[in-house]
Amino acid sequence: MKLLQMIEKKQRNSRVVARSESLVQGLPVTILVQKAIFAKKALERPTMNPIQATHQRSIQQKDAFWREEAAGVHWETPFTEVLDYSNPPFARWFVGGRTNLCFNAVDRWLDTQADDPALVWVSTEVEQEVTYSRRDLYREVNAVAAMLQAQGVVRGDRVLIYMPMVPEAVFAMLACARLGAIHSVVFGGFASVNLAQRIDDASPKVIVCADAGSRGGKVTPYKPLLDKAIALAQRPPAKVLVVNRGLFAFEPVAGRDLDYASLRHQYEGAVVPVTWLESSEPSYVLYTSGTTGKPKGVQRDTGGYAVALASSMQRIFNGKPGDTYLCTSDIGWVVGHSYIVYGPLIGGQTTILYEGTPVRPDGGILWSLVERFKVNTMFSAPTAIRVLKKHDESLLKKYDLSTLRALYLAGEPLDEPTAQWISDGLGRPIIDNYWQTETGWPILAAQPGIANVPTKFGSPSFPVYGFDVRVLNEETGADLGPNQKGVVAIVPPLPPGAMTTIWGDDARFVETYFSSVPGRQVYSTFDWGSKDDDGYWFILGRTDDVINVAGHRLGTREIEESINCHAAVAESAVVGIADQLKGQVAVGFAVLKDAGLFSQSEQLLKLEGDIMRLVDEQLGPVARPARVRFVTALPKTRSGKVLRRAIVAVCEGRDPGDLTTIEDPSALEQIKDSL
Ligand code: ATP
Ligand code: MG
Repeated sequence: MKLLQMIEKKQRNSRVVARSESLVQGLPVTILVQKAIFAKKALERPTMNPIQATHQRSIQQKDAFWREEAAGVHWETPFTEVLDYSNPPFARWFVGGRTNLCFNAVDRWLDTQADDPALVWVSTEVEQEVTYSRRDLYREVNAVAAMLQAQGVVRGDRVLIYMPMVPEAVFAMLACARLGAIHSVVFGGFASVNLAQRIDDASPKVIVCADAGSRGGKVTPYKPLLDKAIALAQRPPAKVLVVNRGLFAFEPVAGRDLDYASLRHQYEGAVVPVTWLESSEPSYVLYTSGTTGKPKGVQRDTGGYAVALASSMQRIFNGKPGDTYLCTSDIGWVVGHSYIVYGPLIGGQTTILYEGTPVRPDGGILWSLVERFKVNTMFSAPTAIRVLKKHDESLLKKYDLSTLRALYLAGEPLDEPTAQWISDGLGRPIIDNYWQTETGWPILAAQPGIANVPTKFGSPSFPVYGFDVRVLNEETGADLGPNQKGVVAIVPPLPPGAMTTIWGDDARFVETYFSSVPGRQVYSTFDWGSKDDDGYWFILGRTDDVINVAGHRLGTREIEESINCHAAVAESAVVGIADQLKGQVAVGFAVLKDAGLFSQSEQLLKLEGDIMRLVDEQLGPVARPARVRFVTALPKTRSGKVLRRAIVAVCEGRDPGDLTTIEDPSALEQIKDSL
């Protein structure tokens, strides 16, 4: 109980970032970062804020609400029904409506924005920069659509895209959408085995790939990995379309490999008519990150996704046509699908496609892009910000960021110290938003396009309209009230844009997501969370990672958050390890901002003690880690998420299991050695 009170206190004391009303009017903002503590009065606030009111309406008056939102999309044929939920938990949104993602992203803006930049490609890897106007984009997408069509690709066929961050990858995605073909983008960093699994799952007619990518100045060949994957696959493609960047020499496979440049020349000027899809027809398949186990192939619809993105570009990202959007994710992840490619383009914005790391040539590169391209909205991941924490802080102040309205961060818990650090450094609002590959767009977020409500560091704010999110007791399925911790679940139907099923496996969809909460068919996020008295939500870690120390249940994130408060720490991971006496004990692994300052073992010992005391003070002795070890890197997935299950296994002397999505296996070795 004492622990719960402490957490509550900590949440209430979270810094409140108040932004002036001018944000709503789209004017430059003055940020009033206050150490304001929520007064008792605020806790008793009788009325809902406008974000909560919008949310309530979206749940209580689904039809009316989503009918209005759907007006943000072009419908070739109007829908006859907003929602068909006759077969729960399968939802069909905008039944009978016919639309097309490519048309909404490209053609629709030709009348008003033909010559405005639509896609800007910046590569610090190969020192190149190309701007494509909407007209250029139209031309390129049509050419690729013609190439694919010539290979027999038609509506419903799968096309696998295994590409680095180059414009051709975006053209290929949009070309698939134009044809009604289903794309399956596989993150470029994956090795042959992962790729072969995804090839077999999708059985693509064509694969689009490049000779190579480049990361941190080092060429990473793609083509040989693909060749190997195709050799492993049971259901290989008939054709492979290769973008030859001249980075890696290869021998084309006769009769199978096609050269992108030659075909582009051949099909330049081609116009491929849009294939209108019924709203529920699939647009793409995309795999989850594989942090907790075998990745799941998420299937997305067409109309619902278009509506969710068009709507979120305004209500969550507070943007308008003509704005510039920079998202530093990868097209291989859901954030890249939704907010590098489809969201900004459907919203009539310029999207920046960045090939490079956040620290090369130096830790100021992202901010220099904001200055140069007058970026209005930026989207990145907490993991990128934690990397920057190890670099020169003055770089945050070096560039003119006056056009930037806010920095959105998602993908992992955004701990309060990191949020504070980047907020102070940039002087712009930081918007933590929580979602999953499955949902396609944010479940929890501040929504400045609806209203300017203060944010609290450590919290992704409020439920997003359409998501009937609840905190439930894992054992009974009962709804929990404020300040109670439980599993975060969504009462179906899932809103437009969320996954419609697992590709090729409806039974697994129901089994995986809708069968874990007793007595209720609700969608489980498998994350643990709580909300406070003001309705702000907190994600406390994954349900798998909840630790049980002497009867107290703790989310790993709560302890990590405490550890990260230490000025020397850049990031940390906490896991629960089996303990004969206490059931489980917490063990922490920390990466230091500057490891050089702690070269002596006594210094590290003292630091470990200091960190433990810090956790003691903030959460109570029960949360104190049994050990804190120092490493130079944490084992993460290629999408930047900490692989806690692998850390636990190694700590308990077990086999870490499936590691195909790990970024750097040596980080796991370090964990082993540090014990
Ligand atoms: P898999 O489902 O295959 O194990 P994954 O869950 O890591 O992999 P993603 O869909 O990429 O795959 O990640 C979604 C998860 O990331 C969420 O369920 C949550 O655990 C975490 N997450 C995302 N955004 C946030 C956020 N803002 N705060 C806290 N956690 C977040
Ligand atoms: Mg997941």
